[in-house]
Amino acid sequence: MQIAKHKVASIHYTLTDNDGKILDSSVGREPLNYIHGAGNLIPGMEEGMLGKIKGDKFDLKVPPEKGYGVKSDKMLQKVPRSSFGKQPVEIGMQFQTDNGQVVTITNIDLDSITVDGNHPLAGVELNFAVEILEVREATPDEISHGHVHGPGGHHH
Ligand code: ZN
Repeated sequence: MQIAKHKVASIHYTLTDNDGKILDSSVGREPLNYIHGAGNLIPGMEEGMLGKIKGDKFDLKVPPEKGYGVKSDKMLQKVPRSSFGKQPVEIGMQFQTDNGQVVTITNIDLDSITVDGNHPLAGVELNFAVEILEVREATPDEISHGHVHGPGGHHH
């Protein structure tokens, strides 16, 4: 069975940047299960999975445009230092805003702090080493929920 829309694929992957640094990996954990065509994965990864079958091993290079996006200056924001209260701040610190976005402090001035709301992997070329472990039909429930149920998926 080939990976196509509404198939569930179970995969192992290792993600590295162009320097070979491992950014993320499922190896040693439960494999990643996803429904193809449901927007579970970044677009470049879905494209690379299409048509693959159980047992396939391959490398996938994903440009930022099809990964976590390019870095945008629009995502930089200056906020008054007073909004941090007495909380200690330093460059590189990450925290979550009220709406759940993760931002990183990139600059600290006397009276303002610059935070960067770009995804940490924005602008990064992604190199995936992928192994397809299993391909099956998605159940009607999985298709309507948009995610995988059972082992490696949602339990509810
Ligand atoms: Zn569900």
